[in-house]
Amino acid sequence: MRFRNKTALVTAAAHGIGRAAALRLRDEGARVFALDRDGAALATLDGVEPIVLDLLDPKAITALPETLGAIDVLANIAGFVAAGSILSGSDEDWMLSFDLNVHAMHRMIRAFLPGMLERGGGAIVNMSSIASSVKGIPNRHAYGASKAAVIGLTKSVAADFVAKGIRCNAVCPGTVDTPSLRQRVAEQAAAQGISVEEAHAAFVARQPMGRLGQEDEIAALVCYLASDEAAFTTGAVHVIDGGWVN
Ligand code: NAD
Repeated sequence: MRFRNKTALVTAAAHGIGRAAALRLRDEGARVFALDRDGAALATLDGVEPIVLDLLDPKAITALPETLGAIDVLANIAGFVAAGSILSGSDEDWMLSFDLNVHAMHRMIRAFLPGMLERGGGAIVNMSSIASSVKGIPNRHAYGASKAAVIGLTKSVAADFVAKGIRCNAVCPGTVDTPSLRQRVAEQAAAQGISVEEAHAAFVARQPMGRLGQEDEIAALVCYLASDEAAFTTGAVHVIDGGWVN
């Protein structure tokens, strides 16, 4: 029960890695605010307090701490994966990548950090990706740039508040089997005129372990970093990718 008497807020909690992280935190004793724009899916989660909110709405983020109060753990999981290179990707995708992956994260931290400082501590876990400053991955131009910004944001928060009891770490998964990944597989199949099975096999073929990551494997790392067991790590880039960048 690493999170007994702790309050955690998890974004993108309705599906995928965020959902797995919210459930783990709940199972380990935390009071969990599960935030997502998909209220119907949030309603299927037991034992958490759902917050239906669009992270692209800055005013809604700013108003959140007044409603929720101070928290101990902020898990910023929400992110958008845009396909394309610098030439083929759209300006809209570039803007959305930064609005959701970076600006919303920045706003969430700015909203909840003062409460953590008042309490004398807190843990922030930011979802990046190996598609970032860690590795250039084809067809992930806007995504990779935005996830590199997540690492810079993480390190800067960690450096500024390390002496005030705040830890801030980044998680960089490789390919993880989630609803959004399954959607990308289907899109790739349609774009290349191949079957979904063939497109899925191409994603798996990039993995030295011969398999994709599982949501709960990433959620386990998120929870470790959010817990007091990780008291000696901050400003760090935690790669979890089945050996892809090794
Ligand atoms: P997912 O698509 O399975 O779930 C994303 C969730 O975010 C959904 O519940 C969706 O409703 C919510 N969401 C999207 N836009 C929102 C908004 N504007 N406001 C509120 N909620 C919003 O995603 P996932 O694959 O679990 O990815 C989660 C994070 O992990 C992302 O930051 C992603 O970039 C990162 N990541 C994923 C992989 C992977 O292979 N799946 C790899 C590396 C990093």
